[in-house]
Amino acid sequence: MSRSASLFEQAQAHIPGGVNSPVRAFKSVGGTPLFFKHAQGAYVIDEDDKRYVDYVGSWGPMILGHSHPDVLDAVRKQLEHGLSYGAPTALEVQMADLVCELVPSMELVRMVSSGTEATMSAIRLARGYTGRDAIIKFEGCYHGHSDSLLVKAGSGLLTQGVPSSAGVPADFAKHTLTLPFNDIDAVANALADVGQSVACIIVEPVAGNMNCVPPAPGFLEGLRALCDQHGVVLIFDEVMTGFRVALGGAQARYGVNPDLTTFGKIIGGGMPVGCFGGKRAIMECIAPLGPVYQAGTLSGNPLAMAAGLTTLKLISRDGFHAELETYTTRMLQGLQERADAAGIPFVTTQAGGMFGLYFSGADDIVTFEDVMASDVERFKRFFHLMLDGGVYLAPSAFEAGFTSIAHGEAELKLTLDAAERAFAALQN
Ligand code: PLP
Repeated sequence: MSRSASLFEQAQAHIPGGVNSPVRAFKSVGGTPLFFKHAQGAYVIDEDDKRYVDYVGSWGPMILGHSHPDVLDAVRKQLEHGLSYGAPTALEVQMADLVCELVPSMELVRMVSSGTEATMSAIRLARGYTGRDAIIKFEGCYHGHSDSLLVKAGSGLLTQGVPSSAGVPADFAKHTLTLPFNDIDAVANALADVGQSVACIIVEPVAGNMNCVPPAPGFLEGLRALCDQHGVVLIFDEVMTGFRVALGGAQARYGVNPDLTTFGKIIGGGMPVGCFGGKRAIMECIAPLGPVYQAGTLSGNPLAMAAGLTTLKLISRDGFHAELETYTTRMLQGLQERADAAGIPFVTTQAGGMFGLYFSGADDIVTFEDVMASDVERFKRFFHLMLDGGVYLAPSAFEAGFTSIAHGEAELKLTLDAAERAFAALQN
């Protein structure tokens, strides 16, 4: 038995399902999850000493690659001064200044410890600011695991939402309306009907939790215009896209400014961090300035700020995001060529350094239905074939992939060689 398999068995004694976050259990691809013990550059190394080119990157944060020496040094330096004070620090001031410089729609920013906290707090703030209760989100988008967001659409477009997890009261879910992603007419119709009671629209500007679905032309612009028309706060959940699809996030890439933005992942450089921020008039409603309560024992934690700040500074260099995007495009083109040569129906999507792979004959992937129509069984086989070939993809057909600046020629060749063998095997 591999060491990963034996650790997984052991883990199930005291950890529910053996994992601390469900997708890690490999349930959607089958088999046993890998346990990692080390990560360096573009690679993760498992407990059995096998090395993989990593396209998960801890689900997004590791844009510099793993164990970047400058990030580790910054954390070590801070370590000498203590782990946490629960009081203001110079580092968090620098962080807030840098975030507001890199993302001009942010005038004030509050640090938290996860993406979930960021979106949950931004929604409370939007409700406090507008005095309205309802929120709109989109099918296939994920914004963390707070109660208002674990909700799916009811049977009709304008019916109230229903919980998508046990333990979420129907009374909470009824305030959440779930609409189809990339369908601006559905949003216009919903707001025409119930706009007066909607506090905010929250959207992943590039959907990254139903694989990877970029916004259709006009979708984000349409949301902006409709929010302005109906006095609704527009929240871009950039936990995944922030600092990745462009230095200034999806809002810079697509040229649409939200009222509030949430970040996570890259902003912590691999440490547990999130933040939310935006227009001054809205953010001033947060305690201690205003009546909307929000707090955190470890918010702005100095170790996390050191890792995040160093990461943001390093990715701010000229050409960083162009390089990241070029690698990603070349890798996806290489996969497409090999799939085509093997006669396997295959489509890819991309926004900068994030991507989606679909076993599908569709021309493009635009809607949740397009995503759901892809061949999940084929993905499962592909996932395991790639794993055998030394490439670690997200263990689910419905998660985006991520590249890092540490991915170069050697990793490209390794990935494409493994894919060529995998596509050939899929012909049988
Ligand atoms: N929002 C988006 C877009 C995410 O992708 C995620 C996590 O993957 C979250 C929010 C929740 O972040 P966290 O897992 O840090 O709570």
